[in-house]
Amino acid sequence: MSQPTFKRTHTCGQLRDSHAGQTVTLCGWVNAYRGHGTGLVFIDLRDRYGITQAVFAKDEASAQGVIDQADKLRNEDVVALTGRVRIRDGAPNPKLETGKIEVVVTSLTVLNKTDNPPFLPDDASPLTNEELRLKHRYIDLRRPKMQKILATRHRVTKVVRDYFDENGFLEIETPVLYKSTPEGAREFLVPSRHVPGSWYALPQSPQLFKQILMVSGCDRYMQICRCFRDEDPRADRQSEFSQIDLEMSFVRREDVMEIMEGFVRTLWKKVMGHDVPPLTRMTYREAMERFGIDRPDTRYGLEIKDISSLAAKTDFGVFKDALAKGADRPQFSSKRGVVKAIRVPGGAEKLTRKMTDAYGEFVKGFGAGGLPTVKLNAQGVLETGVAKFVEPIKAELIAALGLQPGDTVLFSFDVYSIATKALGELRQKVAKDMGLVPEWGKQWNFLWVIDFPMFERDKETNRWVAMHHPFTAPRDDQQKAFVDADVNDEETIASIVSAGYDIVLNGSEIAGGSVRIHDQAVQSKVFQLLGLTPQQAQEKFSFLLEALRFGAPPHGGIAFGLDRLIMHLCGTDNIRDVIAFPKTQIGADLLTRAPSPATDDQLKELHVRSTWEPGR
Ligand code: ASP
Repeated sequence: MSQPTFKRTHTCGQLRDSHAGQTVTLCGWVNAYRGHGTGLVFIDLRDRYGITQAVFAKDEASAQGVIDQADKLRNEDVVALTGRVRIRDGAPNPKLETGKIEVVVTSLTVLNKTDNPPFLPDDASPLTNEELRLKHRYIDLRRPKMQKILATRHRVTKVVRDYFDENGFLEIETPVLYKSTPEGAREFLVPSRHVPGSWYALPQSPQLFKQILMVSGCDRYMQICRCFRDEDPRADRQSEFSQIDLEMSFVRREDVMEIMEGFVRTLWKKVMGHDVPPLTRMTYREAMERFGIDRPDTRYGLEIKDISSLAAKTDFGVFKDALAKGADRPQFSSKRGVVKAIRVPGGAEKLTRKMTDAYGEFVKGFGAGGLPTVKLNAQGVLETGVAKFVEPIKAELIAALGLQPGDTVLFSFDVYSIATKALGELRQKVAKDMGLVPEWGKQWNFLWVIDFPMFERDKETNRWVAMHHPFTAPRDDQQKAFVDADVNDEETIASIVSAGYDIVLNGSEIAGGSVRIHDQAVQSKVFQLLGLTPQQAQEKFSFLLEALRFGAPPHGGIAFGLDRLIMHLCGTDNIRDVIAFPKTQIGADLLTRAPSPATDDQLKELHVRSTWEPGR
């Protein structure tokens, strides 16, 4: 028997029929075993690269001692084995890349016996519950699917660095212990030991540092960075996530868009082998009008149509009341009443009463009063309870929506912001229910959304908030209008268009950015509008306002959500799948059990007293 060794000669995914006759050493985990107690044992050995079948056969090379050892192996034991490669005795296994060969083992070293694993890292069986998977993440990550995601993530970051390096960007790290600056989301705070009573914040993004790097003359910056936002739980969010963060000097909107579009196309080509055509562009207004959302999924129809002028001709009370709201406001004012509709082709048959009732409840979640529905049946007759109200405009409605017999129409009525949002959200739900969303990988619809409003009203506080962030500039041709605008002139402020841009892929925002304000006076006006007094603005942002006074070049940038990109590239809608060590929705790391209580001594040293008492 040769000396036991675990110096690998090959990986478990490497051997082919051309290796037949060679003596090899493989290391890995026992993925499966067969034939215990028969004198002929088969082990599937797995590592990151694949699976190889190993045979322990008495009448071949394996000594009895080795077979006895093999007999005791169990799933997930870690072993090294040495043996001879041979063409498989039985039929090749087409599911394995190594499926033509097997290794006849001459020596086996058990490197580590495992405890009984709580689950097996097996992609073929249904997944065990996620809590258990996160608790034993090291087992979960052994699954080939997870290994593939980690490899894709690595590949993406490599393409990112190569592409931006070739285009003259420098990767520059920025601090994680940072100053608390109101940028939108709630921040995580870290107490300072050296300055009692003072706190760092973890950055929501390196936004201000990258702008300051432009003032520093760095010209083109990139960073794959970690961002922290203490947001309320949402299935597709993590409080700690990664961005590909970028900034460029001496640029207009078009310059940033050109480089970033090049990146997206390079990435999809290199990772998916897919040629992305030049990205189409859509204004925010068009997106809202046609799709009711600023990240439209254009892979399917179900477009929204404004039928306010037709609705005004009916005697339907709910339409009339809606249209009376804010009637004196400008056409696209968020507070003006509208009636909008979606045509669902074939809906008369496919959408049951139960479904349309549920849709009615669904839109109420967005503040809408309900969802009147009519069907145009196969005979071309309008059906349902509200049909009588719609009857007088039937011909015009058919023409406006392109209705065919068998279609259903869903109506939304309220002020613009509510009616639009309700249908925008509903549209996505109906598309799923009707099976209109293409399977993953079949269609990649990228587009730019541009010309966002600078500001919107926060529903809860009724204050102006920046639609992107407070450092976003007005679009070139809007600068003067913004500088001249009276901050109390509601409709004018609402109408100012920003120099922001998002990249949307299949209905999800994968990147967002803007040209920035590089003029101190404009920046101060934005702060004023957002309700910061000059003192507050100084307290929070003196470093930015100061930097803007000392030679700030025009600049702009963008950030891609790295986790979301990987989700698209790997075909998962679970963000935790693409992060090696993710947190649960309430920010818990089940593996290390963070967060956890601090000791009294730690707190004392940090000058912090906890007001929390167990059980209260
Ligand atoms: N800092 C921004 C964000 O995190 C992106 C950008 O404007 O570049 O959304």
